[in-house]
Amino acid sequence: MRKLSPVLPVLVCLTMLSSCGDSKAASPASDPNEKSSGSLFAMDTYITVTAYGENRDAGIKAATDEISRLEKLWSVTDTASEIYAVDHADGSGTAVSPETADLLSLAIDMHGKTSGALDISLYPVLCAWGFTTGEYRVPDDSEIDELMTHTGVDRIALDGSTVTIPADMEIDLGAVAKGCSGDMAVEALKAQGVSCALLDLGGNIQTLGETKPDGTKWKIGIRDPFGDGSAATLETGEGAVITSGGYERYFEQDGVIYKHILDPKTGRPAESGLVSATAIGKEGRYCDALSTSLYVLGEEGAEKLWRESGDFDMVLISESGEFIITEGIEDSFELTVPAELRVLHR
Ligand code: AMP
Ligand code: MG
Repeated sequence: MRKLSPVLPVLVCLTMLSSCGDSKAASPASDPNEKSSGSLFAMDTYITVTAYGENRDAGIKAATDEISRLEKLWSVTDTASEIYAVDHADGSGTAVSPETADLLSLAIDMHGKTSGALDISLYPVLCAWGFTTGEYRVPDDSEIDELMTHTGVDRIALDGSTVTIPADMEIDLGAVAKGCSGDMAVEALKAQGVSCALLDLGGNIQTLGETKPDGTKWKIGIRDPFGDGSAATLETGEGAVITSGGYERYFEQDGVIYKHILDPKTGRPAESGLVSATAIGKEGRYCDALSTSLYVLGEEGAEKLWRESGDFDMVLISESGEFIITEGIEDSFELTVPAELRVLHR
C-alpha cells in the first residue's frame, strides 16, 4: 500500500500542466494566445483564474469579483452571509437569493441521487471533529450519536426562495460551493467577451472553451494522493474536473488518521477504500457534488451511480493505489506514476 502524502495547503490537487503565451511578454493586445492570471484566497482555498485573448483582464476581474460575492453569500462563518442567516433563524424561514436557492436545490437533489452520501446538514458534526476550525479532536460515540440527531437533509424546507431549517440544525454548502462558483465565474468571463479560460479553485479545475487558443486540449493533472505532484493527466474540452481527496484535510491522533469527508451514515470519516475521487463533466456544481459523494460511496457505490447517471466520467484512486476510470476518458487519460489501471465499461 502506498503512503498518504502530507497535506500541502498551497499545492493544489489538480494543476494546469501546460500553457501558452505569457501575460508579461509584450505582444499585440489582439493576440488570442496572450494570457493573464488573477488569484485570490476565497472559500478557504487558493483560486487562480487564467484567461486568454483581448478581454482577459476585464474577464478575470469579473470572475474574481463574482467568486468574492458568492463567498459572502455562502460562508458559514460570515455573520452577514445568507447561509449564516439560515443557520441562525431559529426555525423561521429565511429569504435567500436565487443563486443560493438554486445551489440548495441541487444539494438536496443530490442527497437523494447519492443515497444520502452528500449531506449538507453535517455541519454540527464536522465542527465537533474540528474540521471547520483546525482544532481537531475525536468526539466520543455518544457525542456523535447526539449530534447526528440534529442532521437530516429531509428536514430542510426550500419553498421558492425561502429556506427553513429546524432551530437545532445548521447547514453548510462547503462540498458544492466551489464548483458552483466556478460555473458562475465562467459566466462572468463569458459576459466580458472571454471565450477561453481556465479556473483553478483549490485544485478543482473548470475550463471555458473546448481548446486553448492554439487549438490544443486542456491538459489537467490529477494530484497524486501518495506523493507530490500529479499521478495522471487528463486531456479535456470545456467543463469541470473536480476532485475530493482525504489528503486535503486530515489529522492524526494515536496513530489513526481522520479525514475531513464524513460518512453521513456514521458521522465519522468515510472509510470507503478510496483516497481520491474525481468527477469529470459539464457543470462544476454537479461535479463538486459528485466528487464528494463518490468518495463517500466507495468503488462499488460510485460505479453504481455512474451506471445510473450516464452524464459524468470519474477517476477513483483506491487505498491500494489502483486507478479506476470510466470508458469516456479512456483515450484522454494517462498515468504518470507506475500504478494499476482498470477501465469501467458500460
Ligand atoms: P469537497 O472538497 O467538495 O469534497 O468537500 C468536502 C467538505 O465538505 C469537507 O471539508 C466538509 O466541510 C464538507 N463535508 C464533509 N463530508 C461531507 C458530506 N458527506 N456531505 C457534504 N459535505 C461534506
Ligand atoms: Mg465537492
